[in-house]
Amino acid sequence: MVKQTIQIFARVKPPMRKQQQGIYSIDEDEKLTSSLEIILPRDLADGFVNNKRESYKFKFQRIFDQDAKQDIIFEIIAKPVAESVLAGYNGTIFAYGQTGSGKTFTITGGAERYSDRGIIPRTLSYVFEQLQKDSSKIYTTHISYLEIYNECGFDLLDPRHEASKLEDLPKVTIFEDPDQNIHLKNLSLHQATNEEEALNLLFLGDTNRMIAETPMNQASTRSHCIFTVHLTSKEPGSATVRHAKLHLVDLAGSERVAKTGVGGLLLTEAKYINLSLHYLEQVIIALSEKHRTHIPYRNSMMTSVLRDSLGGNCMTTMIATLSLEKRNIDESISTCRFAQRVALIKNEAILNEEIDPRLMIIRLQKEIADLKTELAMTTGELRTEELTEAELLQLEKLIASFLEDQDPESRLEVGADMRKIHHCFHHFKKLLNDKKTLKNGSEETSSETTRQVRQEPLKDEESAKLRDLLKQRDNEINILVNMLKKEKKKTQDAFYSSSLEKSEARPPQNSPFVPGSSAGERASFSSAASQAQDLSLCRHRPSLLHKKTGMREGMSLGRQEAFEIFKRDHADSVTIDDNKQILKQRFSEAKALGESINGTRSKIGQLKEALTQRHLQKVALGLSRNVVTPAMPDPQEEKLRAQLEEEKSRYKMTFTRLKALKVEIEHLQLLMDKAKVKLQKEFEAWWAEEATSLEVNPPATNPQGSMKPCTQEDQTQRLSKKSSGGWEAEDGTAMLDVCDKNARRILPSPCPSQPSQESGGSRAQQQDSIPERPVSSIPLTGDSQIDSDILAFIKARQSVLQKKCLGNN
Ligand code: ADP
Ligand code: MG
Repeated sequence: MVKQTIQIFARVKPPMRKQQQGIYSIDEDEKLTSSLEIILPRDLADGFVNNKRESYKFKFQRIFDQDAKQDIIFEIIAKPVAESVLAGYNGTIFAYGQTGSGKTFTITGGAERYSDRGIIPRTLSYVFEQLQKDSSKIYTTHISYLEIYNECGFDLLDPRHEASKLEDLPKVTIFEDPDQNIHLKNLSLHQATNEEEALNLLFLGDTNRMIAETPMNQASTRSHCIFTVHLTSKEPGSATVRHAKLHLVDLAGSERVAKTGVGGLLLTEAKYINLSLHYLEQVIIALSEKHRTHIPYRNSMMTSVLRDSLGGNCMTTMIATLSLEKRNIDESISTCRFAQRVALIKNEAILNEEIDPRLMIIRLQKEIADLKTELAMTTGELRTEELTEAELLQLEKLIASFLEDQDPESRLEVGADMRKIHHCFHHFKKLLNDKKTLKNGSEETSSETTRQVRQEPLKDEESAKLRDLLKQRDNEINILVNMLKKEKKKTQDAFYSSSLEKSEARPPQNSPFVPGSSAGERASFSSAASQAQDLSLCRHRPSLLHKKTGMREGMSLGRQEAFEIFKRDHADSVTIDDNKQILKQRFSEAKALGESINGTRSKIGQLKEALTQRHLQKVALGLSRNVVTPAMPDPQEEKLRAQLEEEKSRYKMTFTRLKALKVEIEHLQLLMDKAKVKLQKEFEAWWAEEATSLEVNPPATNPQGSMKPCTQEDQTQRLSKKSSGGWEAEDGTAMLDVCDKNARRILPSPCPSQPSQESGGSRAQQQDSIPERPVSSIPLTGDSQIDSDILAFIKARQSVLQKKCLGNN
């Protein structure tokens, strides 16, 4: 059992704007505990909770300042937890902090760069790397991904659901068994045999989460997400199985309702979130108080699910994410206070071992079979089958060492097998008889010797003949060996090309991957080649998210054109283009590595062949000279060996690089898939908004015959909300003062170079007024006429806007 308090870490997010100096400071004392001092600015201190204080100090295991990168966070915070999970203990890492403070960035990672991947992908990579290294146990890994919103659980990994709403996802419920263990009904567990499969599941869950999010539910900030790795391990032949769970938790934003100032439905949701965070706080308070017997876990779904992680059988770590800007100071202080209470909780992690009944049955069955044979033997029912060659050989060895052993106490142990016992008796009998014959024979020795002398010249003749025969056979063998080699090469080539064909037919995630060990060298050579091949095929692989990104097929031409414009001017398109470029580079790097691996592989083959030839030459030389070649150092052979070693280590290096590159390529592809889904989703929302806007402000309502354009500010506010993730962007003011920039980025270009064919009406007409169209209601069914009208409307309004902009300037 390992007793440990919950470890608490803090991470400060880089500010959106240039940070005011002196809001906080970080100190490390001689005991290596870090403390964070939050200094209240003068103007804030007056109206603050406790206006007598000027600063607040909080202790953490370690505090990561703004410049801390994701790899350090993983190394220091997540790796120790992952290690204890690999050893068979439960582990939990949860991020707590206000919306926008970096919880998702820390747990899952940023959506743009590979280097921004967070704790989940890095942990998956680490865990699978360790599993691959450890051949002493058999491991199985399963993944689940649960989202809790408004006290309801949803399964994010249900592949059958094309969720467009959160409610479309399968509902997960909790129940307690008589032993008070919590079970989750309807939460699917997916086996992942390698890092790639696990990553695909993470991205599938994240995409489902994104698609299911609506402006009404803002699930990303108001729900809790629990990504769980379930690890099972056992030693071969053992019936004892270890289970360990690793929860990686992205909690809802911890901000208080009063601050967010929401009403109606949103208030209910915020209350729910606060309720579950409030219950989490209650559980934490109860746990940190001595002598409290009742801990109110059952009050909310989240605390029920995380029951073990809080004061139970688990190694738990909390990351307090902080956005230390002036207006966030009260939230930051409350996050730190919460962390201080969490740090008082003691957990007791135990090894979760249990006997697998199925394995136990198999073991007992074997034991019964052994006992039955023993019984048969003692009751005289003997086994009839003969002893095998190997058994006989083993027995002979035992007898020989028994006879050689001078110790009178030594015993011959052959077990309770009558066949072996009989064999031993036969052996001794034979030995005894041989000895007798030898004795009789010694009397005839003298006559025998004379006969031997007479036969001597005959033997010389015979040995010369035999030597000739040997030479002949050797030549024959050499010819045969060469023939065999050629045949073998042919079969190998045929096998290799057929395996390449097969690898083209299957998706890359199924590719077998044998690490380059000397024992499995040949296997790893061919697998590396197919790996290189797989990489070049990744580009065409059927994406896991394809169904979700392939929505454009059903679009009308007008809508497609609008989508193209939207995409071009969307802030994320820069990221997508950048990632495309990086992907291109990585692909060509992978291709070059693949080619280099193939080159090294054939070089290794040639060197091995040269070494064999060298050996054969030496043997042949020895035979022709009729002498046994002494084990002399051969400089040529040594040179060949050195070259071979060099090529082998080059092979291993390139192979490792290719493997890492493969993971990076897959990650980038998944990031791009996700970005595309996001873009599509935002386009749909924008399109719907444009349609509504056309409906609400039909041209006819304007007495001048031209539509009153939305002010640029209106537009920017509305659209920047989309481009930066809506109200979650903590820096609302910052968004307003980049009006021009955002308008350019998100809106269709103000100067379309080509007038649209579908837009109808002359260009001049478009620029001055909105084309007439009586619109009573606009269904969003993808009707191509209606779509063209919306497009024309958008373009026309853009021209008006642009004119207005120019006029103002
Ligand atoms: P939360 O999940 O707490 O609401 P996010 O993780 O979504 O917050 O972070 C909000 C924004 O800040 C995102 O755009 C994210 O990329 C960025 N961000 C957060 N933490 C960091 C960091 N440590 N370094 C760089 N960017 C960060
Ligand atoms: Mg988040």
